Amino acid sequence: MKNALDLTTAEWRAELSGMGEPAFRAGQVFSWLHKGADFAQMRNLPASLRARLAERYDARGVEILEKFVSRQDGTVKYLYRLRDGNVIEGVRMRYHHGDTLCVSTQVGCRMGCAFCASTLEGLARSLSAGEILGQVIAANRDEMRIHNIVLMGSGEPLDNYEQTVRFLRLLREPGGLQTSLRAVSLSTCGLPARIRTLAEEGLPVTLSVSLHAPDDAIRAQLMPVARSVSMDELLAACRYYLDKTGRRVIFEYALIAGVNSRVEHAAALASRLRGMQCHVNLIPLNPVPERGLAGAEESAVQAFRQALEARHISVTVRREMGRDIAGACGQLRRGYLASEGAKEGNERA
Ligand code: SAH
Repeated sequence: MKNALDLTTAEWRAELSGMGEPAFRAGQVFSWLHKGADFAQMRNLPASLRARLAERYDARGVEILEKFVSRQDGTVKYLYRLRDGNVIEGVRMRYHHGDTLCVSTQVGCRMGCAFCASTLEGLARSLSAGEILGQVIAANRDEMRIHNIVLMGSGEPLDNYEQTVRFLRLLREPGGLQTSLRAVSLSTCGLPARIRTLAEEGLPVTLSVSLHAPDDAIRAQLMPVARSVSMDELLAACRYYLDKTGRRVIFEYALIAGVNSRVEHAAALASRLRGMQCHVNLIPLNPVPERGLAGAEESAVQAFRQALEARHISVTVRREMGRDIAGACGQLRRGYLASEGAKEGNERA
């Protein structure tokens, strides 16, 4: 069965006309779907059409399997189930102006970053645009207050380029969620050719680049992608993105004890970024026990921040949210897979 959320309004028009329906039905179907309705709930559609659509299409594609709410700050962690039985996770963070949803673009990831739990078992598969959108719609069904979207869940969005771009276009379509792309951030480990192509799409999302290092040698230690992409090449693509879209680039930098968190590293980073319209987000590392890496001490984080500020680099330290429920990125899915594996093991035993 096809995922109904994959289709644009124009594609619905073609699909419905093939079923002998008038063109105006396309807008009705599209806007119901994006409100989270199932076909049975589409009151202004003839019952026969609802039944025919339900035979061909799955209106949802993504269902919330489990939900964890932080007692500390209300942060929500979702475990979603896809139609093929795969599971992915997402996070809802609460802010005064509305909630931010962190969405996944792939099941697993093949980028292999040393500190990241999402990549430990490699890539299972990429998500379709409708499955990425389905996470937002499912979260809105749970509570209708998603304002901002960050593509920072599992997966590398630019390694699933076409579906990610289709998702961004679906967000903007009339009758749909009509999210401003200014409220959307796309986080990437840094694929320069794709960053340049994205800059040409007319989709002005905020580009977040996971830098995590002041130079190629340290970066290559943490991120396999850096063995084939130099920081010069990456930063040139970021400047191009800035020129084309007018959007300042955000650099993410997780401070890891004994690796990238000394004041000299901050000074080197500042000189690389000098003169560029950008912002640095310092992230406290979520420890991933499988990886044996530890976050830098609070005093080192503050010294790093001050060293950047002293060199006129705009910087913030990201607040930790939902510590009690989240674990590191990708750990919820791992925990789930491990417990399912254990169950199977028990059954077999
Ligand atoms: N593949 C994309 C998006 C997913 S990761 C990317 O690389 O940007 C989202 C962010 O979380 C990235 O900045 C990533 O480097 C960071 N991250 C991954 N594991 C982390 C951990 N254990 N602690 C802190 N940040 C982590």
